[in-house]
Amino acid sequence: MIKVKSFFKEVVRKLSDRHDVIMSSGANKIAIIGAGSVGATIAYACMIRGVAKQIALYDVVKSKVDAEVLDLNHGLQFVPMASIEGSDDVAICKDADVVVITAGAKQKPGQTRMDLAGANAEICKKLLPQLLSVAPNAIYLLVTNPVDVITYIAMKITGLPPPRVFGSGTVLDSSRFRFLIAQRLKLAVQNVHAYIAGEHGDSEIPLWSSATVANIPLHEWAVMHHGKLSVRDRTEIFQNVKSAAQQIIAGKGATNYAIGLATAKILEAVLRDDNRVLPVSSLLKDYRGISDVCLSVPCIVNRSGVETTLPVPLNANEEAGLKNSAETIRAAIKSLGF
Ligand code: NAD
Repeated sequence: MIKVKSFFKEVVRKLSDRHDVIMSSGANKIAIIGAGSVGATIAYACMIRGVAKQIALYDVVKSKVDAEVLDLNHGLQFVPMASIEGSDDVAICKDADVVVITAGAKQKPGQTRMDLAGANAEICKKLLPQLLSVAPNAIYLLVTNPVDVITYIAMKITGLPPPRVFGSGTVLDSSRFRFLIAQRLKLAVQNVHAYIAGEHGDSEIPLWSSATVANIPLHEWAVMHHGKLSVRDRTEIFQNVKSAAQQIIAGKGATNYAIGLATAKILEAVLRDDNRVLPVSSLLKDYRGISDVCLSVPCIVNRSGVETTLPVPLNANEEAGLKNSAETIRAAIKSLGF
């Protein structure tokens, strides 16, 4: 009887612990740095999904941040209640639980993400110490490109433990990948499980060998009315993933909706302690022999940030691709003096 009682006591304690985590997520604060196309859309996606009770936007251009905050606040009636504030004073980010950095230069048509490295590293050098002074306990999520390089630099500048500093990585590229596979096979995108790993950029690699639908490896997939993927299909899909940003930038000057939703999902995983598997960019430590560089592999993301990387199966080509990607990012980091 005593055993049964203590068992129930333990269950109640565990449930109430869990409840605290879930309930406290309602009081959480997100600070978004940069109220441009990406920053404002992240705020919009977070607001619609009710990701946090407080959303703060900071931008050096006061007229821009004020206008975005006004517009967002006018939509509050239609979404879960939250407080949305903005300023050109970094103090607006005080005590944020997560700081999301989108500030900086974006790609112009024809530019690669790596072309932005120097300018955006300089912005981070100035910005991060200020942010750290007002939000010392936050988790820092980097979105600014080239995101793997900027994530590494942010980790070095802040001196924060690696799990608390990570980048959106290839979460967006993987969602593009899954969408294109799903479209070809006439399936719901949610049922396709496939990752892009490595750099969020030109050296990224598609992990075809572990891609599945309903546990069926994609290389074995052949279903009436839902086709199968030829080598040519795969090549085209991956090329489209890689050129997606350029395609969108050529048409409207920026990518914002999918990265807004992807970032909201990462923030949810952190603030709701979801233990969600996401291919974010984190510092690798002897991952298939790769160390001291930030890049994306599937990771478990929760309230502590990146808890761990996952040892996904890789074939020889994929492993070589990942190593090549690591070298590309490392060279860019070194060229910036880090
Ligand atoms: P944008 O030009 O629309 O916005 C950038 C904003 O940053 C501007 O409002 C600018 O005033 C602000 N800013 C500049 N310096 C600042 C500083 N020191 N402090 C505060 N704010 C500052 O650009 P965007 O389209 O929003 O893109 C932002 C970044 O996100 C770019 O580097 C872009 O390449 C990157 N991006 C990353 C992904 C990804 O998957 N990681 C996807 C899309 C875009």
